Amino acid sequence: MSDRRRDIKKDLTATISSLVSHLKVNEPLKNHTTFHIGGPAKYFVDVSERDELKKLHDICLQNKISFLILGNGSNVLIGDEGFDGLVMRLKGEFSLITSSRNAVKVGSGVQLPVLLQKCLKKNLSGLEFLSGIPGTVGGAVVGNAGTKEGWIGDKVVDVEVLTNSGRIVTLKRKDLKFSYRSSNLNNYIIISATLLLKKGQKNDILKKINGLLLKRSKEQPLNEFNSGSVFKNPENKSAGELIENAGLKGLKFGGAKISEKHANFIVNFENARASDVKTLISIIHQKVKEKFGIDLELEIKLIGV
Ligand SMILES: Cc1cc2nc3c(=O)[nH]c(=O)nc-3n(C[C@H](O)[C@H](O)[C@H](O)COP(=O)(O)OP(=O)(O)OC[C@H]3O[C@@H](n4cnc5c(N)ncnc54)[C@H](O)[C@@H]3O)c2cc1C
Repeated sequence: MSDRRRDIKKDLTATISSLVSHLKVNEPLKNHTTFHIGGPAKYFVDVSERDELKKLHDICLQNKISFLILGNGSNVLIGDEGFDGLVMRLKGEFSLITSSRNAVKVGSGVQLPVLLQKCLKKNLSGLEFLSGIPGTVGGAVVGNAGTKEGWIGDKVVDVEVLTNSGRIVTLKRKDLKFSYRSSNLNNYIIISATLLLKKGQKNDILKKINGLLLKRSKEQPLNEFNSGSVFKNPENKSAGELIENAGLKGLKFGGAKISEKHANFIVNFENARASDVKTLISIIHQKVKEKFGIDLELEIKLIGV
């Protein structure tokens, strides 16, 4: 590294440290993803206030540093080389939940199970389909998380975001577009969302949540490291069935394996590298295309892979 680059790096470390209390340098991202895969982040911080977020965002823009907002890391495959920039997780004020009648305003850093518990406490129904999804509200809104039973986008009234130009704005329902595992929010940092729910009976809500959790535990490899469904379901088809019918269940590469329990899950059974998972993804893609003529589309986000 040249002296000049070393000086810039020192300056940035000092600037970021002056804003947040716990800057981590070269933090292994495998410690922050449900896959337990991912090389180091050059800079890694927990952000606790929107003012801090704005300043860090400015620093990134001014210094041309890439940044990544990481939720619970449950829908990503991060490369073995890691992330050459600033990784931010949203905590503190981003973890607040307030409610008024049937509307819930929820910070993007809130874990979905925590939101579900809060709704249960308030007898608010409508989000039960999110049971067992191990993400944050930010990740869920940007990726329109859901199941056959519904998706979160249908409940969203407005979303507060930080724009590319560093402004905080509230996008109203009419500005928002949600489709299967996708939204028009990819270029924003989600700060909070307001969700509209309906009053329900506590017992009914609880029964639904518990039923869905039980179903997941029977169908998904929840005791192994994974990142959820790897591919989106093609229209009227199940990606898992296509992969199984292509004869790929149980196929291993390095420390990664196509789950025996659910073929649309790849599990990290022994110190898998992102490149192991990527190889399995390529094999699945190719075999399913050869056998069924279907181009499977990824559901997980590849970051530096
Ligand atoms: C066992 C298991 C089961 C799962 N089941 C389902 C399911 O049934 N349905 C489903 O939809 N998903 C499912 N998932 C996938 C995943 O949990 C969801 O997609 C979840 O919403 C991702 O949230 P996250 O916080 O983990 O996002 P991350 O994985 O951290 O990030 C995903 C993407 O969102 C971006 N992002 C995160 N937060 C923000 C923010 N505040 N602002 C802007 N961008 C942001 C990230 O930069 C990244 O591009 C499952 C995962 C697992 C491990």
